[in-house]
Amino acid sequence: MSAIEISKVSKIYSGDQRAVDSVDIAIADGEFIVLVGPSGCGKSTLLRMVAGLETITEGEVKIAGNVVNRMDPAERDIAMVFQNYALYPHMTVYNNLAYGLKNCGTPKAEIAERVAEAARMLELEPYLERKPRALSGGQRQRVAMGRAIVRKPAAFLFDEPLSNLDAKLRVSMRGEIKHLQKRLGTTSIYVTHDQLEAMTLADRLVVLNGGRIEQIGTPLDVYHKP
Ligand code: ADP
Ligand code: ADP
Repeated sequence: MSAIEISKVSKIYSGDQRAVDSVDIAIADGEFIVLVGPSGCGKSTLLRMVAGLETITEGEVKIAGNVVNRMDPAERDIAMVFQNYALYPHMTVYNNLAYGLKNCGTPKAEIAERVAEAARMLELEPYLERKPRALSGGQRQRVAMGRAIVRKPAAFLFDEPLSNLDAKLRVSMRGEIKHLQKRLGTTSIYVTHDQLEAMTLADRLVVLNGGRIEQIGTPLDVYHKP
């Protein structure tokens, strides 16, 4: 069974133009899939349909065996990481990390344990009492990842998470994501327009063009075949 199964999925925003056109991807447990392709090719729309932030016009998405088409984002057992971090500015790092867990009624002791574990993994321990404004861009991005990690979801969905960072930080955060991926082995879908990011992170790349899959394969298959 695939961790995520995207079957004949299409998105029509209006008229008969398909922003995503009959896409099939079967994602194995623990696989890191990167969606690439030119601006407007449908990467973000496809990711948002998996996340439940956009309705699915046609087709079916299954996560951990369940059809999620009609489920709310919160019910889908996924955690999303955005480029703008989406942190709560008035909350401390600790409470930013804990917030999602508090909301779904996780016991306090377990919240503390999971937050501590994520903070350790992401080297955020010294900053737990700070507000986001007192953090660097890289630290904020780590908090955003921490919020996803503490939930222990079936899948991570990344929407260009590093595109707001400067070039140097992007390279180091790319390495951190790779490291976390090895350590956690969580099934992931990652959207980027950065080829190096795609090549470094992907088990398999999906190249979209005009809403359709143009190529799918390992970075070696996609970038090095004549
Ligand atoms: P990418 O993430 O690859 O840049 P998008 O998924 O954002 O591509 O967009 C795919 C297509 O869908 C584009 O033609 C875009 O203009 C269109 N689109 C995206 N969001 C909307 C929307 N909310 N309403 C109408 N059209 C949209
Ligand atoms: P709230 O207004 O949500 O209660 P608090 O700042 O009082 O926010 O913290 C909520 C809970 O998280 C409290 O039980 C607090 O003791 C705990 N907490 C806050 N910061 C830390 C931390 N750095 N380490 C462990 N627990 C913490």
